[in-house]
Amino acid sequence: MNKRILLVEDEPGLVMTLSDRLASEGYSVESVYDGNAGLLRALNENFDLILLDVMLPQRNGFDVCRDLRRHNNQTPVMMLTARGQIIDKVLGLKLGADDYLAKPFEMIELLARVEALLRRAPAEQMPVLSAESYQFGPVQVDYRRAEVRRAGARVELSALEYRLLRYFIDHRGETLSRDTLLNEVWGYNALVSTRTVDVHVAWLRQKIETHARHPEYILTVHGLGYKFVG
Ligand code: CA
Repeated sequence: MNKRILLVEDEPGLVMTLSDRLASEGYSVESVYDGNAGLLRALNENFDLILLDVMLPQRNGFDVCRDLRRHNNQTPVMMLTARGQIIDKVLGLKLGADDYLAKPFEMIELLARVEALLRRAPAEQMPVLSAESYQFGPVQVDYRRAEVRRAGARVELSALEYRLLRYFIDHRGETLSRDTLLNEVWGYNALVSTRTVDVHVAWLRQKIETHARHPEYILTVHGLGYKFVG
């Protein structure tokens, strides 16, 4: 079965270029031109990946992404942001996007990232552990539902944050370098900076640690990387 990609983009030229290229790579591409249509299609159909423009008619890409995650839809999202808008990247990741790419981008980079996002096992297809949940401090991770609760309250994690947390748990006690995390969790270390790891670790800490600035579980090992001790 071809992987299905939903393209939410209002620029006709880019829609055509992207659709043609992705189709020639063997993907099945559906495109919609505004945020409302994008959200509806994403919620009502199964896609393997969503390419989501930020500036869209009716509902912007940030809102679409946030609403998807609120509906517990964990389809990987790659946001297409305007060039150099760091704030877009940070906001996109905070709202649950898995990756972002600044326009204009090289098609080859987009394809590499699409492939990397699709190659990652979605949460429900991750290797089954014997335990169905894992608890550390006030945090409970339900592997079957791919849900995380903190002191009983649901914590909204992006698919990437969830994978990162799972990787930490599966390798608890080990010092993990940023490169290792990029290789194992992101899967395309050549294309993103190790700063990306720091950004995501920071978000994850904000969501699961009592004091993100004084983490108890995801520790910084200076000069080496991170270590999960939950
Ligand atoms: Ca646009």
